Amino acid sequence: MTQFGTWQPKIRGKLFYNWPQGACEEALRFTSAGQLGVEPYDVAIVGAGVVGCGLAYRLSQYDLRVLLIDRLHDVGEGTSKANSALIHSGYDAKPGSLESKLLHEAEADWPGLAARLKIPLDPIGGIMMAVTDEQERQLEAAEKNAHANRATDVRILSATEIREREPNASPDVRGGLLVPGESLVDPFMASIAYAEIALANGVDILLGADIAGVELGQPPGAPLHHLVTADGHRLPVRRIVNAAGLGSRRLADGYGGGAFDINPRRGQFLLFDKSARPLVQHILLPVPTAHTKGVLVAPTIFGNLLAGPTAEDLPLEDPAATHTTVEGIRRVVEGGSRLVDGLARQPVIATYAGARCACSQGSYVIRHNDGAPGIVTVTGARSTGLTASISLARHLIDGMQKELGLELSPDSAALDCRPDSAWPGWWRRPFENGATDARADHGCAVCFCEVISGGEIRDALDSPLKPRTMDALKRRTRVLSGRCQGFDCQVPLAEIVSGHTGIGIAQLTKNGPGSELVVPGQAEVTA
Ligand SMILES: Cc1cc2nc3c(=O)[nH]c(=O)nc-3n(C[C@H](O)[C@H](O)[C@H](O)COP(=O)(O)OP(=O)(O)OC[C@H]3O[C@@H](n4cnc5c(N)ncnc54)[C@H](O)[C@@H]3O)c2cc1C
Repeated sequence: MTQFGTWQPKIRGKLFYNWPQGACEEALRFTSAGQLGVEPYDVAIVGAGVVGCGLAYRLSQYDLRVLLIDRLHDVGEGTSKANSALIHSGYDAKPGSLESKLLHEAEADWPGLAARLKIPLDPIGGIMMAVTDEQERQLEAAEKNAHANRATDVRILSATEIREREPNASPDVRGGLLVPGESLVDPFMASIAYAEIALANGVDILLGADIAGVELGQPPGAPLHHLVTADGHRLPVRRIVNAAGLGSRRLADGYGGGAFDINPRRGQFLLFDKSARPLVQHILLPVPTAHTKGVLVAPTIFGNLLAGPTAEDLPLEDPAATHTTVEGIRRVVEGGSRLVDGLARQPVIATYAGARCACSQGSYVIRHNDGAPGIVTVTGARSTGLTASISLARHLIDGMQKELGLELSPDSAALDCRPDSAWPGWWRRPFENGATDARADHGCAVCFCEVISGGEIRDALDSPLKPRTMDALKRRTRVLSGRCQGFDCQVPLAEIVSGHTGIGIAQLTKNGPGSELVVPGQAEVTA
């Protein structure tokens, strides 16, 4: 029988938050570059989204000194936290493209990978639905395209076959494509699990550190560079991977990286209550356009129903890139209702938006020795980076071997999975197999919507990648994610976090310094 509790392997890497005094325990606080040691890193990855975390996980299998850095306050907190959460089969990619190759490889990787990362994956399959004559005419070409992408199980369905599978399909449905290879996954835990294993294997992780510049090796061509944080820390590194997503252009400007243009392509979503989940049985996809895959309706791995995203191009650095708007929500309802009858009557519990890293040079732009020796730029992971994170990591490492002379010697002590005894996460609850330890407080609910106990919150706080913000706890436990969206549980949750970590209530934040839960001077009243 599995004994639940925190996963506490020997953690060989260091974890730091670049936070003000009091915002986290002193042992976790980054105050000087010396805490990371004097030896330069073999590889520093800037950007701890799913791409950077996947790369850190793969690099951690080798005997290398690796640093993973992000300006945000948890891993996977940029674009990687706000997507459709699908593992794509690549049926609609451009045949022969790098994206097609990465998705084809990743589709085969994911079942085993999810088992190793201990994250849930549901191979529920998809149906692309044509709801106009014009869309119906496109189905044959879409089927051919899928087969050219080696998704040979994709086939055309009649309207009757769709209605048999999806009783709530729109009355306008003319036919569609069955796409068996599409799956649901937990998008948050993908980045977290990659990073936890990397940390256990010795990768150092620095959060809350904005890389404001790169000092290139001198004389030009020298192999030692320095990353410089916005608050002036200088970190010596031999190789840099720019995996900064929407921040990759600004970072590349710091080392003279080649030309590429990116813009945030906003995607807005509606999240429906769990009561709406039975409405659909598959991932329901619209017929895509040249611009976007369109508004889909899909269950989530958490048991909710999701509709979205929109596709709105915004200027780089636009602060509204992750805002939701009335117009955007209207378009999601309209788009979703074209596929599913009755969707507009379902209860919505949250809205959110993510910003795709759309690159005019195409998806997956990878440049080696970009601007200077030892620097890799990887950008333009627009719509499929969650899926491709694992195959992309392999591809990047191959490139670094060939183009940067990175020498790889396997680390025989490295883990490539989280153990069964890992803190289970929301999908394997402590009370489900009778292994509950009464002393661990697993029976006393804090979040009544998702039924999360105080013990599970403490387990998450003690897990290897010690989450210290409310949003980071939410992504690991589902606290604050239910119907009340934190209305009932935010205060008891804050008390548990403060009591367990010693961080004052006034210092606790939603997602890092500047997002404190209480206004200065009000902490005593709230607590
Ligand atoms: C609406 C939408 C739907 C999508 N649906 C899917 C889907 O269903 N399936 C799928 O596979 N993919 C999907 N995607 C795509 C997927 O989410 C992305 O490809 C993926 O998350 C990109 O990961 P990343 O690591 O490149 O970027 P990010 O997650 O944005 O990570 C980049 C990180 O770099 C950090 N950073 C930036 N600049 C700096 C700096 N100067 N210093 C330090 N850190 C810095 C940022 O803080 C950020 O955390 C979707 C995307 C969107 C927006």
